[in-house]
Amino acid sequence: MASLKGLRAIVTSGPTYEPIDPVRFLGNRSSGKQGHAIASVLAREGAEVTLITGPVSLADPGGVNVIHVTTAREMLAAVRSALPADIAVFAAAVSDWRAKRVSGKKFKKDGGPHELELVENPDILKAVTRLKQERPGLVIGFAAETENVVHNARAKRFRKGCDWIVANDVSGGKAFDAEENKVTLITAREEISFGLMHKRDIAETLVTRIIHFSEEHLHDHRTRRPA
Ligand code: C5P
Repeated sequence: MASLKGLRAIVTSGPTYEPIDPVRFLGNRSSGKQGHAIASVLAREGAEVTLITGPVSLADPGGVNVIHVTTAREMLAAVRSALPADIAVFAAAVSDWRAKRVSGKKFKKDGGPHELELVENPDILKAVTRLKQERPGLVIGFAAETENVVHNARAKRFRKGCDWIVANDVSGGKAFDAEENKVTLITAREEISFGLMHKRDIAETLVTRIIHFSEEHLHDHRTRRPA
């Protein structure tokens, strides 16, 4: 029997794009490779997976229910619609801000540079860890840091209220769109730094640990399937 059979998982992946005008947006360089690989390995291990992805050029992984979104607010709504779940992995690089006003017409060059007023986007990970009844039993966040990687990620684990955090060093453009990455997994009990690994192998390693955790903690608390 597959190890995660009977468990439901939500994975967010890729960037979000926040529109500025009909042709421009605020985005980032996340490729979705890590999140998509995690969704695919979770599904292979028997979990019922919903992958919520921003705009990426990757094919939908097989055996996974995929919801395509563009903005952070759409991603949050899709995550809510996918609850309840036992496991949630927040690998998406969500834009922290969006334009306060989205112009219906393309901004023109004449008249000088345009001032852009930004407002904060909802924090999807935080919104989920704050849930009372529907908080998944295992919530995993990611931390892309450019300095003091482990120290900042440790603080982020507390601030966000997630159980585990996967920290990576993105200084000098590392990690984004690369095939390989170097990560540290931070849990309440341990901090494990891995060497440079292919993102697929990082997904395998993470899912092996999720399986161990689920054997100890989740199988008695499987989410009730909606009627
Ligand atoms: O605060 P920061 O963006 O560094 O946090 C990274 C973690 O939080 C990632 O797991 C990311 O998916 C999640 N996040 C989120 N919603 C946001 C910002 C970040 O879910 N608006």
